[in-house]
Amino acid sequence: MLGLMQDKPLLISSLLEHAERFHPEVEVVSKTVEGTIHRTNWREIGQRARRLAISLEKQGVKKGSVVATLAWNTHRHVELYFAVMGLGAVLHTINPRLSPEHLDYIVNHAEGEILFFDTTFAPIVEKMQERFGHVKRFYAMAAEATLDKIAPKIRDLGSYEALIDNTPADPAFTWPQFDERTASSLCYTSGTTGNPKGVLYSHRSTILHACVGGLPDIMNTSANATILVVVPLFHVNAWGLPYSAAMTGTKLVLPGPHMDGKSMYELLRDERVTLAAGVPTVWQMLFQYVDANSLKPREDLCLKTALVGGSAAPRMMIERFDREFDTFLLHAWGMTEMSPLGVVCQLLPKHQHLPAEQRYDVQMKQGRAVWGVQLKIVDEDNQRLPHDGKARGRLLVSGPWIVDSYFKGEGGKILDEEGFFDTGDVAVIDDDGYITLVDRSKDVIKSGGEWISSIDLENVAVGCPGIAMAAVIGVSHPKWQERPLLVCVKKPGAELDKSTVLSYLEGKIAKWWTPDDVVFIDALPLTATGKIYKLGLRQQFKDYQLPTA
Ligand code: AMP
Repeated sequence: MLGLMQDKPLLISSLLEHAERFHPEVEVVSKTVEGTIHRTNWREIGQRARRLAISLEKQGVKKGSVVATLAWNTHRHVELYFAVMGLGAVLHTINPRLSPEHLDYIVNHAEGEILFFDTTFAPIVEKMQERFGHVKRFYAMAAEATLDKIAPKIRDLGSYEALIDNTPADPAFTWPQFDERTASSLCYTSGTTGNPKGVLYSHRSTILHACVGGLPDIMNTSANATILVVVPLFHVNAWGLPYSAAMTGTKLVLPGPHMDGKSMYELLRDERVTLAAGVPTVWQMLFQYVDANSLKPREDLCLKTALVGGSAAPRMMIERFDREFDTFLLHAWGMTEMSPLGVVCQLLPKHQHLPAEQRYDVQMKQGRAVWGVQLKIVDEDNQRLPHDGKARGRLLVSGPWIVDSYFKGEGGKILDEEGFFDTGDVAVIDDDGYITLVDRSKDVIKSGGEWISSIDLENVAVGCPGIAMAAVIGVSHPKWQERPLLVCVKKPGAELDKSTVLSYLEGKIAKWWTPDDVVFIDALPLTATGKIYKLGLRQQFKDYQLPTA
């Protein structure tokens, strides 16, 4: 027997309608590309998104059309989110840090008809426009008067602001209603090997993810919260924050291209931010700014939670946020294929009164599955392993906001017999359900039949005074197959050598994990999403002769 409740589709437009109606005055603050502070609110975002939608419809954008963006985190990008998805079209958010080959590939693969870009990216668009054959019209996300200065040689160019200004509001406009399984946005995986693959989210998956993302133990979005969204709107929908924020009428603070320590600190302070979300490299820049200027974050800021994911949060980061900022580092793990939320590391009641050091031990774990996400770890024969805190295996996931197949069927069948997706990560799960990520399966160091976690080693190494960033890779070894090589970047002016680093590690790691060598380089290669580019690093050191070899 079916239930007798109304069968209303779960649509993204309903989020904006709600924010506009019930939280019209709540601000959305952006640091613009030009560096000024721009203030708007949910009412204006709603009004402008509707005018944008009307103008897009006039240009032939309809259900299933693809509209692309090459843009930073600003109010305009948020408007585009709601305008495009509200129409039932697909917003393809492009990661501007991708290589030209990957950009070329994904823009053509996605077949976007219109491309909106922030003026920073005018040179990329100018250079690549002829290769973007499907794109009929380009819009610079700027005022018309500035176009000549910004992008003189882009074909079929229009101004975003003019598009809205020239479209009168239509009181009769309503957001279309359609099947909640309709595609809403498209994001390509970082593609460290082979071509990037497209993950196509739906209205249903997005709304379910937004409901869970906003829960108190997760991102705790609220009309009384202020969120600094450092995670890019161009990658995995900024962890779903724009949707959860619209659902609860939360104030958003958007840094535009300004992710340096100073800009972050000023936004946190001036906008009274309570939650900030970003990858560890961003927070490292914030710490460096705090150190260089002897700041007192505890006095200046009211940041309750730093949501950290994308790569492992080092212990030193958990500790510094706690001691110097009075901020709880909420560790989370997920991926593009998971919308991205998978696990979040909230403490349980039994952890609340633990001494700080033991609390940090818990916070180092990536966390426990949120409702909706099922996890399993398996061995080489795909047999399930116990959740005993010891067995380590490949981590697989399933749930209503987890990929079923890639866009246009790339990669073929990607789920196992039980409908689980292989994340490519290796993890341990304890009996409380906390997962600890051992490594990406490609990054784990295989030393004499045993595994060494590059994540664990890096976590300890970045705590060494004088080290700004650290990465560990496996380098081939005649006896052990692979041994760890520690690659470090020094803090400016730091005096440091191999022996200081190795003596710092002594006693903090198992003896056999000790890196066989330590090298210092000027900068670590980063991926398009700000993570350490291990593949590139492995290539760089592929012929490296370890002193022990
Ligand atoms: P992406 O799809 O680009 O967002 O990358 C997802 C991958 O980032 C995951 O499969 C993990 O390997 C890694 N990752 C995400 N969050 C964490 C975390 N908290 N700790 C360690 N690795 C993480």
